[in-house]
Amino acid sequence: MPVGTQATVKALSPEDLLYSKAQIILANTYHLYLRPGDSLIKDLTGLHRFMNWDGPILTDSGGFQVFSLGKQIEGKQKLGLLERTPTKVMSKITDDGVEFSSYLDGSKHFFTPEKAIEIQRNLNSDIVMAFDECTPDTATETYTREALNRTHAWAKRCKDYWEQHERLSNLGQYQALCGIVQGAMHRNLREESAHAIVGMGFDGVAVGGETIGYNMQGTLEIMDWIRPLLPEDKPRYAMGLGRDPQDILDAVRAGFDMFDCVAPTRLARNGALYSGVLDHLDQPNPADWTFASEFSKGRLQIGNARWARDTGTIQEDCDCWTCTQGFSRAYLRHLYLTKELLYYRLASIHNVRFMIRLTEHLQTATLSS
Ligand SMILES: [Zn+2]
Repeated sequence: MPVGTQATVKALSPEDLLYSKAQIILANTYHLYLRPGDSLIKDLTGLHRFMNWDGPILTDSGGFQVFSLGKQIEGKQKLGLLERTPTKVMSKITDDGVEFSSYLDGSKHFFTPEKAIEIQRNLNSDIVMAFDECTPDTATETYTREALNRTHAWAKRCKDYWEQHERLSNLGQYQALCGIVQGAMHRNLREESAHAIVGMGFDGVAVGGETIGYNMQGTLEIMDWIRPLLPEDKPRYAMGLGRDPQDILDAVRAGFDMFDCVAPTRLARNGALYSGVLDHLDQPNPADWTFASEFSKGRLQIGNARWARDTGTIQEDCDCWTCTQGFSRAYLRHLYLTKELLYYRLASIHNVRFMIRLTEHLQTATLSS
């Protein structure tokens, strides 16, 4: 899922996304709640109409940002970038919910599980996520357990609230609900969490936490622990995973189906363009599948002087719009170095399509393996 934090996948039009064969995109509840506001989006008949995207949209619960953006507020406070100074900078967690300060202006807000679902009902997304507490990996086991108990109680409250409202958005559209497995790097807690979340009967099961997609070794360990506990007939979503092509390959081999990451568009803007190919997909054992690239982490650095006179496209066999139109590495390098706006679009189109094409190939291989 390409990530559209502010109801837009940065630098891409909905047409670019369709051409890239994006089947679904992600939008951030926390950001849209703060600006322009979920009630405004509801009044304008929902997120799809608002952003002119007819395809499916998944919204996160806002939990991750509520817990992780506290630090950014501190930084902005030091730089004097906030109009109002929040008295309490970090989020305050109780069993009922989380009080946090807006990273925009320091204003106070309170999220409960019911509130997180209600905001997503206003946004009218197709898949909504349960509100969870995302604990840092450095948290003690005692604290992680406390947080996990809250996450499970909140998941139940989200589900109850969703069922009370007949699983419909405030615009009358069906919304699927996914629960999130937490538990940091503690095997016993991850297994307990998988049991609890699967037992509640959500439409899909997600795995979340600081490690997922960030520390791939840890991510694969967690996936290995919980994989036997997950239902075969429901989607498995690894939240925030998909920075490197190898990460997607590893996660698919570990039995996961859905991913989102800001990296493809962010890396594109920073001059890193994906390049490389999947190989041995005809082998029946997924362990034999590989991703190979002549570049470190599968990223070509377009600003490099070696491309100054290179008339080839980013990747010869790539079917993205940028490559099929014949934009050369030399031209892209020039646009990148001069910070021309067209660069951001052309580069983002390539990286987004590259990742989607990778998942298409893995889907075909998985279905025939
Ligand atoms: Zn391309």
